[in-house]
Amino acid sequence: MSDDFGQEQAIRKLGPGKLVIASHNAGKVREIGELLMSYGIETVSAGALDLPEPDETGTTFIANAELKALQAADLSGLPALADDSGLCVDALNGDPGIFSARWAGLDKDFRLAMQTVWDAVEAKGPDAGHDAHFVCALALAWPDGHVEAFEGRVDGTLIWPPRGDKGFGYDPMFQPLGHEISFGEMEPEKKHAMSHRADAFAKLVAAVF
Ligand code: IMP
Repeated sequence: MSDDFGQEQAIRKLGPGKLVIASHNAGKVREIGELLMSYGIETVSAGALDLPEPDETGTTFIANAELKALQAADLSGLPALADDSGLCVDALNGDPGIFSARWAGLDKDFRLAMQTVWDAVEAKGPDAGHDAHFVCALALAWPDGHVEAFEGRVDGTLIWPPRGDKGFGYDPMFQPLGHEISFGEMEPEKKHAMSHRADAFAKLVAAVF
């Protein structure tokens, strides 16, 4: 980050203590808590503190992660970490992108969301490529309004029909570059070691600890 005079500013470090995970998704909260335990960080979820879920009004992954983290830090008086992620398809100019969860509708029907993505790519004609990537933005905010953000990605190809039931969301239709199986067919430990989330976390850990 640079200041008003173009000088590089040091990234703020995160000391030991309590950190709010600004997510109401129990799986995410547990996974992030386990990852941070070894750094002396004790995590508490936004749900446990009864914090509201803000509207994701940002136009980028980082903007949405930042607004979630800043609100949680402001309301709790503690540092807070939030993430925002999604699938970006080149042939669709990056869609569904920040709307990845919303393409699954209120029923969170990812069979339907994957079909919608595939139909949209097919509608582009035979020359439409199948390149895609997952993005994960992580934002770490402090109660004084300071925020640090990190973005990770993993590149791959869309496949059809979807394969595998080990993952979630768009995993069954995404095959990471250099692999012959989809994220849906991959053992979770293997996916977690190479995913967009792993990439963003590695950047965060290298910067703030
Ligand atoms: P959010 O970050 O909780 O707003 O949701 C992002 C949405 O992107 C999820 O509901 C999934 O649909 C999709 N997504 C994000 N990461 C992954 C992943 O690792 N695999 C499959 N789908 C993902």
